[in-house]
Amino acid sequence: VEGIVNINTVDGLTKNTLLTYFTQVVIDKAENHLVTDVDGRQYIDFISQMAVMNYGYSNPRIVKAVVEQVQKITLVNTAFINPLYAQFADRITKKFGFDSIATMLSGSEAVESAIKVVRKWAYVNKGVDPDEAWILTTDHCYHGITLATMSLSNVVADSERTPVRFMQSVLISSLDFGKHLPHVGPLSPSTGKLIAFGELDVLRETFELDGHMIAAFMIEPIQGLAGTRIPHKGYLRAVQDLCHKHNVLFVCDEVQTGFGRTGFDLAFQAEDVKPDLVALGKAVTGGMYPMSVLMGKAHVMDVISKYEIAGTYSASPVACAAALASLDILEEEKISDRSQRLGELLTKTIDELAPPYVLDHRGRGRGLFQTLVLDESKPGVTARRVGALAALRGVLIGIGANRLRFSPPLTIPEDDLVKAITIIVQCIKDVEK
Ligand code: PMP
Repeated sequence: VEGIVNINTVDGLTKNTLLTYFTQVVIDKAENHLVTDVDGRQYIDFISQMAVMNYGYSNPRIVKAVVEQVQKITLVNTAFINPLYAQFADRITKKFGFDSIATMLSGSEAVESAIKVVRKWAYVNKGVDPDEAWILTTDHCYHGITLATMSLSNVVADSERTPVRFMQSVLISSLDFGKHLPHVGPLSPSTGKLIAFGELDVLRETFELDGHMIAAFMIEPIQGLAGTRIPHKGYLRAVQDLCHKHNVLFVCDEVQTGFGRTGFDLAFQAEDVKPDLVALGKAVTGGMYPMSVLMGKAHVMDVISKYEIAGTYSASPVACAAALASLDILEEEKISDRSQRLGELLTKTIDELAPPYVLDHRGRGRGLFQTLVLDESKPGVTARRVGALAALRGVLIGIGANRLRFSPPLTIPEDDLVKAITIIVQCIKDVEK
């Protein structure tokens, strides 16, 4: 196994895909936690299309809601009122104790909308020119793929430093390029110091020096792309206290961690905090139809008008039907409790089976959102090779630099969870040369 396996090839299809992954499995269909390729081979899926399929692929309850809605009407846009949108808005804000939402199509757009809202809020409330307002993040963060959200992100910069990712109005140069410090992202614009995820000193210093310029601090409560990194207990609360003290908005990006993924309905609920704004996406419709959500308190959300934030396809009734059915499942099937319980089983099984050169997995993730760090100094042990071998043996896992990431559908049966992790651990042993 040399790191990339071409499991199926369909008329040159795999050669033409823009992005290649460590396996080139040509997927035909899927049900719950099982994915089937075009040759009929079945895989246990530990990726969930990047933490989207929380309720399983083609969950019958969501399919039914979507099919019924498609037959009624597929789009009601902002010129009219869509009753399903009203129902969804009412339900999700009440559930999480917020006041209002706006909806978009992708997680990136939800974060992008948060950027617009906090900039306008800072203009209205702190008299800061929106173009000058600072939006701070931390190292290793990921907030999306649009120009503005990439400007906030740091995890992409780790591997591929490209000037494409910068919002030119605020970033003339960035990170190691030196001359002008960015107003958005993980560096303190006043000192150039890196704001490390989970550490308070640089953040506190930046707030104290220049709190009047800062519109918001944005964070993933558990970092996703960086490999399910959890900050120490009390960190998020301390961050929130700093934000309150300096009149800075506290924004949580729950695009990846939301809807039971981490064993809580939203990941911030594990800590004693309540952000001003929350960005949601991915699992909000169970992977059935694109929709993302920006949810917040009234004093923040009310600064922006519908005309500044709503697009043609925002709040489609089909997406709302899927999102309402997803909330039913989350609540009635106690999906977050299940994620927590299965997450503990996953950790315990790794503890029992994994070889000593698995460097780290305890404390790397929560619920069914976990990472296993490999000691790649062992000959032959690389995440790519483990991922490729696991695919050949029927398990799809996420990989990052020396890391394996596990985020199966939260509806995966216990026996298949244990079966998959047993196969993965055996693959770690077998790739060693
Ligand atoms: N924020 C976080 C934390 C994410 O993990 C992602 C997607 N991986 C995004 C934002 C962007 O979401 P999308 O890909 O739907 O635009």
